Amino acid sequence: MTHEAAGQSTRIVVVGSGFAGFECARALTRRLAGTDARITMISPHDYMLYTPLLPEVAGGILDARFVTVPLSEALPNVELVKGRVDSVDLDSRTLHVTDCEQGVENVSWDRVVLTPGSVTRLFDIPGLAEHARGLKTPAEALFFRDQLLTQLELAERDTDPLVARARRTVVVVGASYAGTELTAQLRALADEAASRRGLDPKEVRFLLLDAADTVMPEVGEKLGRKVLEVLRSRGIDVRLETTLTELGPDHVTLDDGTVVPTRTVAWVTGVTAGPLIDTLGLPTEKGRLTVRPDLSVEGHPDVFAGGDAAAVPDLRNSGSITPPTAQHAVRQGRALARNVAASLGIGDAKPYTHRDMGLVVDLGPGFAVANPLNIQLSGFLAKVVTRAYHLYAMPNAANRWAVALAYLTDLLFPRPLVSIGLVTDEESRFAASEGVGAQT
Ligand SMILES: Cc1cc2nc3c(=O)[nH]c(=O)nc-3n(C[C@H](O)[C@H](O)[C@H](O)COP(=O)(O)OP(=O)(O)OC[C@H]3O[C@@H](n4cnc5c(N)ncnc54)[C@H](O)[C@@H]3O)c2cc1C
Repeated sequence: MTHEAAGQSTRIVVVGSGFAGFECARALTRRLAGTDARITMISPHDYMLYTPLLPEVAGGILDARFVTVPLSEALPNVELVKGRVDSVDLDSRTLHVTDCEQGVENVSWDRVVLTPGSVTRLFDIPGLAEHARGLKTPAEALFFRDQLLTQLELAERDTDPLVARARRTVVVVGASYAGTELTAQLRALADEAASRRGLDPKEVRFLLLDAADTVMPEVGEKLGRKVLEVLRSRGIDVRLETTLTELGPDHVTLDDGTVVPTRTVAWVTGVTAGPLIDTLGLPTEKGRLTVRPDLSVEGHPDVFAGGDAAAVPDLRNSGSITPPTAQHAVRQGRALARNVAASLGIGDAKPYTHRDMGLVVDLGPGFAVANPLNIQLSGFLAKVVTRAYHLYAMPNAANRWAVALAYLTDLLFPRPLVSIGLVTDEESRFAASEGVGAQT
């Protein structure tokens, strides 16, 4: 029996505290203020992660806490259940939740909003899950910062020049915006470390690989060419139409047979919907849950979904689905709130539609590219626009303040070269940090 039918308050459960779930819960508290509705959020974390700034956490500009928005502060009227939804019983309207100590709880709903986001897309490449790391979580971002600084320190005292060279080599696979931003930030961190040690920065080698024939297709050909130019001018060896065939603890093998000795490999080649979506037994498109234009699930009027986990029809681009970006996830979160409220008789439902506003991409010291509203910007002006945009988009005043101060600190002082070592090797692996194994 539902809460509505039993005469109890209506319960809306939001699964996931990413951009879509967070915005949905926030907008729902406003839309349903004054009603008896109870809003519950289930997430393994007590924060909303502002992922676009993870490369700057890896690069040592920002602290991980600055990019995690506390739910207790930002969503004071939402009940938080800290745990992971393992399965969804659509008939009995119940979610099965496991917490971090393996305690289990069943949570029932009148309306459920599924926003479990995405995880790194892995392939069946030998050694990938063990020896590469992704960039979807604070643990992974902190791993890269610590790993790079530790390897540079060890290289300095290594008596075997070949091992020292491997320690000073970083391989990033995936030259879309996330991988390119990560490469640029790690390059800047390595340059700072080299200059403090009197080492030629060229001694620290960076390879950026992509199976495609261009970098950052999201920003268009002209800005993409500019990015390529800047990356190469910083000594980054960009190899397009190239990927990995195998990884070991001290090397990777490229698909042209070249063996590159390295201890640091980032795998940032794209995402796939969170594993929960696969367990639902509902129709999917490209692995994402199929939803109608109003973000409800066909045949289940009490189930809604959005963000990276959902295949949302792109009404401005007939026949396609919206790309997995924060820009869409935020707006889909608000549309979810509107349409869930409408399903309870409050307001009117509307199909989701949004015109792409462009991207901002920070590429390290003094450089960024951005194409807001299709205006192509690069260099210092793009850098100002990019940083201003992140401060504007950060959904909590204390986080905004912390990030603004960190940007100011970055203008006045060199990057701190500190590997605090909070994340173990095990904790940063895909399985532990993102909950994913190999997918095909
Ligand atoms: C490094 C990086 C940089 C990016 N930069 C940009 C950018 O500049 N601009 C842009 O538009 N987009 C950017 N993106 C993409 C953007 O982060 C995603 O599109 C966005 O996070 C999707 O939001 P979401 O709410 O759907 O999912 P997510 O943000 O992934 O959140 C999903 C939430 O669900 C939780 N969850 C997962 N499974 C379960 C479960 N079973 N039970 C309970 N909770 C669960 C997760 O823990 C998480 O809290 C970037 C992504 C990365 C990784």
